[in-house]
Amino acid sequence: AVPVITVDGPSGVGKGLVTRWLAQRLRGWHRLDSGALYRILALAAHRRRVDLDDAAAVARLAPTLDIRFEGEREDDERILVDGQDWTRDLRRESTGALASKIAAAPPVRAALLQRQRDFRRAPGLIADGRDMGTVVFPDAALKIFMDASPEERAQRRLKQLSEKGIQATLAPLCEEIRARDERDRNRPVAPLKPAEQAEVVDTTGLSPEAVLARVEALLRR
Ligand code: C5P
Repeated sequence: AVPVITVDGPSGVGKGLVTRWLAQRLRGWHRLDSGALYRILALAAHRRRVDLDDAAAVARLAPTLDIRFEGEREDDERILVDGQDWTRDLRRESTGALASKIAAAPPVRAALLQRQRDFRRAPGLIADGRDMGTVVFPDAALKIFMDASPEERAQRRLKQLSEKGIQATLAPLCEEIRARDERDRNRPVAPLKPAEQAEVVDTTGLSPEAVLARVEALLRR
């Protein structure tokens, strides 16, 4: 089977940094940003005035969306939905909150399952999300679970948003991130938690270089 590396963890923990670095390091491997799929579905439902509490209606929307990922680096990434550039709107924390809301519903998760597995193509896949190691790719060759304190994750997210020219303030952002994590950790289906075989990397207080050095060490094992 085509090998998979899963990188799971809460928001703002640095999964994007690690998965992009892995994609460079393992030349030619594909990347799956599963959070983007939940964000796209949530935003599409919101824009089409589908009731977000109607999980079946939200799920029905999933197969109708034409989704394309372009660019490899964070600064040249473009996400096209039905031919339109949604990159900026998808990154907003308000979209993350909508995504986490629909993501708690089993029909929504079921509607995205095969779509995520379709990203598994030779020579390999690096999958970023919440349940990549526990549900979507249980047979992954390496499962990484990243964690960090909520305060530090809010700081990193703030920096990331400001680099993209998106305005945000620390205290409310921290609160939104905390609420989203709580929902992701406590939902009955596919809750955010390390897979049994996961290597847990606590990145609190670590520089990006130090995080990547840990990941490199895991690759060599
Ligand atoms: O990773 P990102 O912040 O883009 O994810 C947005 C939301 O989508 C998460 O807070 C979570 O509720 C949901 N999600 C999920 N399972 C995944 C990826 C994301 O439930 N594999």
